[in-house]
Amino acid sequence: MINQNRLKNQFLKLVKIDSISKHEANIMGYLVSEFSKLGLRATFDQAGKYFDGEIGNLFVSIPGKVKSAPKLLLNAHVDTVTHSKKIKPIIKRGVIYSDGTTILGADDKAGVVAIMELVRCLKENNIPHGDIHIVLTVAEEIGLHGSKAIDHKKLKADFGFVLDGGRVNGIVNQAPSQDNIVAKIHGRAAHAGTHPEDGISSIKVASSAIAKMKLGRIDFETTANIGLIKGGKATNIVPDLVEIKGEARSHNAKKLKKQMRHMTSELSRACSKAGAKLNVKVSSEYRSFKVGENQEVMQLAKKAAKSIGIQPITKPTGGGSDANIFNASGIPSVIIGLGARNLHTIKENIPIQDLVRGTELLLQIVKEAAQWTVSKKKH
Ligand SMILES: [Zn+2]
Repeated sequence: MINQNRLKNQFLKLVKIDSISKHEANIMGYLVSEFSKLGLRATFDQAGKYFDGEIGNLFVSIPGKVKSAPKLLLNAHVDTVTHSKKIKPIIKRGVIYSDGTTILGADDKAGVVAIMELVRCLKENNIPHGDIHIVLTVAEEIGLHGSKAIDHKKLKADFGFVLDGGRVNGIVNQAPSQDNIVAKIHGRAAHAGTHPEDGISSIKVASSAIAKMKLGRIDFETTANIGLIKGGKATNIVPDLVEIKGEARSHNAKKLKKQMRHMTSELSRACSKAGAKLNVKVSSEYRSFKVGENQEVMQLAKKAAKSIGIQPITKPTGGGSDANIFNASGIPSVIIGLGARNLHTIKENIPIQDLVRGTELLLQIVKEAAQWTVSKKKH
C-alpha cells in the first residue's frame, strides 16, 4: 500500500530543499503545492513573527468519515539544524547518507515525508479514518519555538503522534523538563601588565565556579551542561565580563530545581568570594511529560505496532521535542521513530527500510484509530 519509491524520492527531494530554523518559507511553499495536488488546503499561523522566522506553522485538516474515531494530531518539524553547504543525499546499500560534509536532514524530513505518504495512501485506497490534523512546525531545533507559538485552544485532538524519533520500534512516552541558565559575571578591567591587582578577572571567577559544578550526567534522569562561555578582550586586559550559557534537564521536577540551584549558587559563591557582580537568569525551556502505559494513545500505538509485526519498546528520551509542548497543552502525545541515526552530525543517515516501516506504522495507527472509540473525551 505504501509506495516505497515515491516515499524515498519524496525524501530525497525534501532534504535538498534547505530549511534551517527560521528559514522555512521555501520548503513550506513546496509542501503547500504538494498538499494542494491532493486537494488539501494548507493554512499558516503567525508563529514566525514571534522569533523573526520567515513563516509560521503549517496546518492541514483532513476531515474523516469515521466520526467515532479519536481525532489525531500528526506532527513533524520542517526545520533542520544549521549546515553551510547544500545537502547532497547519497544512497549506499539501502541507507541514505549525506555526502559527508553536511547533516542529512532526516531529522525531521523523515517525519514530514511519512505524513505526506500517509495522506497519499489514505486517498488512493479510500481508507476510512477519523479526523486528522496535520501540524508541521517551524523552528523546533532552536527551542521548540514554532510549537510554543501555536494557539493551542484551536488545536482539537484526542491523541498526538510526533514523527520525530529514532528507532522504529521505540515509542517515546517520556521526556524531561529543561531549564536554561544565562549568567553574566562582571569583574573589573585593569592593565594586565602594570596593574593586575586592580582587576577582577571574570574569566577566573567563571572558571572556578564551573570547576565546582556537577555537570554531565547527574543521575539516570538528570543531566547538566555549560555549553557556551564568552568573554575577554585582549591578553593585556584583565577581563571584566564573561557570559555563560548552560542548561539542565530532568524527568524529575525536584531534581531539576535542585540542579539549577546548585549551578547558580556555585556562581554566586565564586563571585562574592572574588568581589565580582553576578547577573543570572534561569528560565524554563519546556516541561517534562510522561504518557502512562495504560493511556489510550500508548495502547493504540502499541496495538498498531504489533499488528504489523513490530515489537514495540516504550522508552524515555533525554531531549525535548514538540511532543513536550503538545502534552503540556493537554493532548496526550507520543513520539514515533523513523529510523534516523546520528542526528545533528555529518554522519546522519536513515535506512530506507526503516523509513518505510515507520510510515507503515503511522498508516496502521490511523487504521486502528478508525476502529477505536475514545473512552473519555478530553475536549
Ligand atoms: Zn527533530
